[in-house]
Amino acid sequence: MDELPGRAGVVVIGAGVIGCSIARELTRYTHDVVILDKESDVSSGTSKANNAEVHSGIGEKSGTLKQRLNVRGNQMYDDFVSGLNVDFRRQGLLIVITPRSLPEGLARYSPGFLCDFLNRRVLPRLIVRSGNRKGIPWLTVVDRDEIFRMEPNVTRDAIVGVHDRTYGLVSPYKLTIALAEHAVLNGARLCLDTRVTGIRTEGGAVRAVVTDAGEIECGIVVNAAGVYADEIADMAGAGGFRIHGRKGATLIFDREATREYVKGSVAEFRITGRKKRTSKGGGAMPTLEGNLQLGPTAIEVDDKEDTSISGDEIREIFDRFHYLLPDFPRDSVIAMFSGVRAPSEDEDFIIGASKEVAGFVNVAGMQSPGLASAPAVAEMVMQILHDLGIPRVKRAYFNQARPTPRMFADCERAEQEALIERDRRHGHIVCRCEQVTEADVVNAIHGVVPARSMDAVKRRTRAGMGRCQGGFCTPWISEILARELGVPRHEITKKGPGSELFVGPAKCLLDGASRRDGDGGAV
Ligand SMILES: Cc1cc2nc3c(=O)[nH]c(=O)nc-3n(C[C@H](O)[C@H](O)[C@H](O)COP(=O)(O)OP(=O)(O)OC[C@H]3O[C@@H](n4cnc5c(N)ncnc54)[C@H](O)[C@@H]3O)c2cc1C
Repeated sequence: MDELPGRAGVVVIGAGVIGCSIARELTRYTHDVVILDKESDVSSGTSKANNAEVHSGIGEKSGTLKQRLNVRGNQMYDDFVSGLNVDFRRQGLLIVITPRSLPEGLARYSPGFLCDFLNRRVLPRLIVRSGNRKGIPWLTVVDRDEIFRMEPNVTRDAIVGVHDRTYGLVSPYKLTIALAEHAVLNGARLCLDTRVTGIRTEGGAVRAVVTDAGEIECGIVVNAAGVYADEIADMAGAGGFRIHGRKGATLIFDREATREYVKGSVAEFRITGRKKRTSKGGGAMPTLEGNLQLGPTAIEVDDKEDTSISGDEIREIFDRFHYLLPDFPRDSVIAMFSGVRAPSEDEDFIIGASKEVAGFVNVAGMQSPGLASAPAVAEMVMQILHDLGIPRVKRAYFNQARPTPRMFADCERAEQEALIERDRRHGHIVCRCEQVTEADVVNAIHGVVPARSMDAVKRRTRAGMGRCQGGFCTPWISEILARELGVPRHEITKKGPGSELFVGPAKCLLDGASRRDGDGGAV
């Protein structure tokens, strides 16, 4: 990617969905934008490991910034993704009320007719009224029969439901890549593998960002560094808040076994009593490609890089969803992931220009619903940046569209034949599970934001996301990466330096030598 320039108008720290949304928005007004990230690809932080839901805002506490930006962000999504060539679908959310919805104590000590009345009549109306007050008008109460028509696999204990049709799904990493590419196509520069180590200020104003690749002078810094936003703010003397890590694990099920298992997002409504709520509680949702996902958990972690998943977490997810979806196919889990949320102490987003350091803007505490709120966050930050001197007049030459090559798997038969005719490498399927061709991989490697690791190829093409989880395609893709990048195979990494897939060419084992430059197959 780009070399670190000596100066820029605005530096955005963090190439997650938030940093890239802001950078893309900025390029409507100025091309003088540099995005920095310490990782070797965009979307390598929390933006790659979440549940992909464009929440409506119904689950957020009234009066918070994140609730307001979530509602607005959801409303903006269709326009936000337009021209990006990213799939976005409003699949809806079904909130299911069951005998477990009332607090345990109330349910145990109240007469049955009262519980029945509360569950059937009161709770659904409360949910609708609360949603309406938050600015979500499209909520409908659905009876039991309608619940099973919509979601046949839901527990027979379901009493009544509330349907929120504004809920959406978007691929978070594809969206982030698309936003980064759109920003780059409109003049922004992207510097990856560039870790910010300091912020230089003079006379109470930002002067430069210090990185492990050199220094970049600038007048405005946007701090969108996810779980590290507190540390970056401290570097500038613009902090005073803490971000702690909260891990969330999710299970992904085989698409063939779970396609249409849930049609939209499904969640059980529970009143959890006085315990402080820090997470929306998760749910069952499809991916855009049709896999069932269950999760996420919510566990406080000291290490902001802790994306481990324990047996207890897997059991917790199984136990939690066993009631809502009694027959979900437990033996069809093909993958699991966890991501680390970035909550602030008061659980709200922290967005604003620093009062202490002129030109420094914090965009922190971006836990869920950060993905759903991203368009509104970018809009709000843009207002702050205008106040800091970024012109309010849009550039004449903003490129509205981000063209992308067609993926083989997305085409009908005739179109696939035409693709093969045009590029024979489309005739070579490298990932059988997801029907990804050699040409798809080559296109990803030479994209606007090039894929330079296995995970980067995976996020752009889905190669390795199917049932075999890369068992078949890893050798092929590593070979294509080595060939296209012009490096030996043992330099190919899973996700950047330090994650090399191979130790060296196999021949060196026969030689007993430690030669690493041979042309033999890598081991
Ligand atoms: C399990 C889970 C499920 C979720 N589900 C949803 C959901 O369904 N819907 C929703 O709306 N939200 C969801 N979220 C929240 C959502 O993922 C986040 O709000 C969003 O991804 C935050 O994006 P970001 O750009 O702020 O952070 P990140 O994606 O983490 O980006 C920050 C970037 O800053 C970079 N960086 C950090 N320090 C430095 C440094 N010193 N130098 C250079 N670069 C640096 C990092 O490498 C990283 O790439 C979920 C989160 C989790 C964990």
